[in-house]
Amino acid sequence: MSIALLSIGTELTRGEILDTNAVWLASTLTEEGFEVASTNTVPDDPERICAAIARLAAEHEVLIATGGLGPTSDDITAECVARALGVELVLDESAVLAIRRRVETRGRNFTPHHEKQARIPVGAEIYPNADGTAPGFSVQLGRCTMFFLPGVPREMKRMFRDHVITRLRPNAPHDTFVVRLRTFGLPESTAAQLLEGIEREFEDISLGYRVHFPELDVKVQARGRTQSEARARAIEVASVVRDKLGDVVYGEGDETLASITGRALRARGWRLAVAESCTGGLISHLLTSYPGASDFLIGSAVVYANSAKTRLLGVAEDTLRGHGAVSPEVAAEMARGARRLCEVDVGLSVTGIAGPSGGTSTKPVGLVYWCVAHPGGTIVRERVFHGDRNEVQIHAAHAALDLLRRTAAGLPEEATEVPMSQRPPTR
Ligand code: ATP
Repeated sequence: MSIALLSIGTELTRGEILDTNAVWLASTLTEEGFEVASTNTVPDDPERICAAIARLAAEHEVLIATGGLGPTSDDITAECVARALGVELVLDESAVLAIRRRVETRGRNFTPHHEKQARIPVGAEIYPNADGTAPGFSVQLGRCTMFFLPGVPREMKRMFRDHVITRLRPNAPHDTFVVRLRTFGLPESTAAQLLEGIEREFEDISLGYRVHFPELDVKVQARGRTQSEARARAIEVASVVRDKLGDVVYGEGDETLASITGRALRARGWRLAVAESCTGGLISHLLTSYPGASDFLIGSAVVYANSAKTRLLGVAEDTLRGHGAVSPEVAAEMARGARRLCEVDVGLSVTGIAGPSGGTSTKPVGLVYWCVAHPGGTIVRERVFHGDRNEVQIHAAHAALDLLRRTAAGLPEEATEVPMSQRPPTR
C-alpha cells in the first residue's frame, strides 16, 4: 500500500515551524508496518493545495494531510478538497453542535468563523475533534482514500489514533510490534557495536537508532504473521538487547529519565532536595513535569551567585575561595547543604561553566560537577560537555538525574569517581 503525507501551511514552507506532524506520522506508520512513500509540503495557496491533492491521489492509495482546517481565512483545505472532488461544501449540523458546545463551555461566543469549520465536502466521513474545534474528515478520490486532519499536533495525533489507524490497520502489509528502549550515556556507535549481529541472529527483526539529545533510543521492531506473534518476538529480542546494553537502558516507550528517576526515589522512599547553579532550575523543571513529584521532591534552589550558595546552602566561603565555585568540593557542599536544609534523605547538586564565556585553560567551558549526597555517602562526578550553552545545560541536567537514578536504584555508578587529587586547580 502506497501512502503519501501532505502538510499544509505557509508557516511550514517559510520555515517558521518544523513539520513535526510529518515526522510523527511517518514514524508511527512505520511502527505499524506501513511504508510512507512520499512526504510533501505546500503553502496555504489554493492552486498548490488542489494540484498536490490531485497528483498525490493519482499516485498513491492513501493520502494523509494535516493543517488548514481551522476558522481563519487561510484555512482552505476543505474548499480545495471539494474542488478536487468536484463537489460542494455542506454544513454538517452535528459538527456545528460539537463546535458550538466546545466554544460556549469555554465562555466564548460562537461566530460564523467557528461555523466555517463545520463546512465539509459532500459525502465525506467526519471525524469529531476531541481536543479542539475543527473536525477532520476522509473522502475517496479514485482509488485513493484521503484523510484530512487538523494541523495542531495534539489534535492530529488523537484523531489519527482514534479514526485513521483503525481504518488502515487491516491493510498493513505485516503485523509489527515495536519496543522502544530508552538509554542515556550510550554513544550511537557503541550501541551499534554491542548489538552487532542481532538482526542476523533473529528472524524478522530490525533495529533502529534515534538520537534525542542527549539520549539514544534503540527501537526493536519485529514482524510476524499476527500482532501477538510480532509482539512476543519484539519483547523477546528487546530483552536480549537490554542484556547487551546493560543499565544504560533506563526505560521503555514514553518513559523519561526524569520519570524513571522519580520512580526510583519513590520506590526507595527517599525524599530529595536539589541545588542547581549552571542548570538554572532545569532539573527541577524536568522532575516536576510529572504529576506526583511532591511525593519525593521537597525543595529546590537555584544558587547562581556564590553568596546564594553560602547563604542558602551553607557552602563555606573558604571552599569557594580555595577551590572555586566550579569544583568537586563546592558540588559536594551544595548537595549536603540542600539535604541538611530540607532535612531530606538525598541532596542533588550541579555546578559548572555552561559558557559561551567564563572558561579558563584549566577549567574549560562545559566543565560540570554534579553530586549526590545520600545516607550512604557523597558521590561527585565531573565531565566536560561539548556544545552550546543550552546543550551543556541539558546534558548536565540529564547526567545528574542519571546519577540520582542509579544511586536510588542501587545500580553501579557509571563513571568512576573523580579522585580529589586529580581535581583541576583552583580557578
Ligand atoms: P486551527 O484550528 O488551529 O487553525 P488547523 O487545522 O487549521 O487548526 P493550522 O492552522 O494549519 O491547523 O495550524 C495550526 C497550528 O498547528 C500551527 O500554527 C502550528 O503551530 C501547528 N501545526 C500546523 N501544521 C503543523 C505541522 N505540520 N507540524 C507541526 N505543527 C503544525
